[in-house]
Amino acid sequence: MPDTLVDVEQLSFAHGQGAHQRWVLTDITLEIRSGELAVLTGPSGSGKSTLLTIIGGLRSANKGSVRVLDRQLIGAKESDLERLRRQVGFIFQQHNLAPALSLAQNIQMGMQHSDGHKSDDAAARIQSIAARVGLDDHLHKPPSQLSGGQQQRAGIARALVQSPKLILADEPTASLDRTSGQMVMDLFREFAAAGSAVILVTHDKRVLDQADRILHLEDGQLVPAVDQLMHDTSEGLKKLMHIDAPRLGRMMSVGQALAQVALADGKVDAEERIAMREALTQRKIFSGAELDLIVDLALAQAQAWLQTSASEEGMQDLQRAVEAVALADDVVTEEERAVIRGLLRKPPA
Ligand code: ADP
Ligand code: MG
Repeated sequence: MPDTLVDVEQLSFAHGQGAHQRWVLTDITLEIRSGELAVLTGPSGSGKSTLLTIIGGLRSANKGSVRVLDRQLIGAKESDLERLRRQVGFIFQQHNLAPALSLAQNIQMGMQHSDGHKSDDAAARIQSIAARVGLDDHLHKPPSQLSGGQQQRAGIARALVQSPKLILADEPTASLDRTSGQMVMDLFREFAAAGSAVILVTHDKRVLDQADRILHLEDGQLVPAVDQLMHDTSEGLKKLMHIDAPRLGRMMSVGQALAQVALADGKVDAEERIAMREALTQRKIFSGAELDLIVDLALAQAQAWLQTSASEEGMQDLQRAVEAVALADDVVTEEERAVIRGLLRKPPA
């Protein structure tokens, strides 16, 4: 079982005191294990940077529990926080490179904190991490001779040179092009594979795809992933409807019909997906992406139906919902009653 590197329980945090007190984080509970790359998303001002700085011991909170690398940070002494900070690789939007130092010296600053390294392998480690972010040919230059993106990568190299167990990164790929952004993500993945944990604040869609876990903050609270997923899906479908309503309508209808076919034998399994895809591919009715969407919709619908119909509570909810809709126009026709009866009939087991 992998180690828990970050264990936050019921953390709340406010800026200011007394009448000026403003809660920025409320009741945050999360756990990050060794090997994980977690992405933290959320609108501007939702508390992402604040949470990251509390986990990194840069800011003190007093409510809840924050255990990081086996240290309780709530109520910890400044010297303990200082020790923790040395073990964390921080990557900020503002990289704060020292202007009077060369790139190599700036990266070396990231090693000053670490205990017990030998100076003869320091140069080799600086060289190696610089190469990983594509800066090994620039080690002698001062920051002023580097582009914005190169400076950001230099900040990343400085944070990673001592191989931290925990990496906290606030929008590290924001000013990077696609190639260097991916280079940095590959590096993070490698650290995670070697047993570190990475918490990454980002809005970058390409990065989201590569996360092991997505944490979403909304007004200082963590929103369950499924809520966020449903919200995004529904927003996505709305957009699709604007683009091409008739085509989407056909896709949804086919999806619904497929769901019923899938349900005919009362179970939904992985083979169903393969069969649906093959059947639709042969007929060349839909393009690849459309096909994936249809099959996903059908399977999600079939599975949801199975779960709903398996529980008494689910069926009662369904009954109340369909009756409410049927009654919305104040008349329930015989046809509507028949549809409701059909809907509430359990599929064959
Ligand atoms: P995010 O990183 O998600 O954009 P932040 O963590 O930076 O959000 O900020 C969360 C909230 O805390 C914001 O409403 C911000 O205005 C407020 N805030 C940040 N720093 C301070 C501060 N020093 N004093 C008071 N409020 C602050
Ligand atoms: Mg921020």
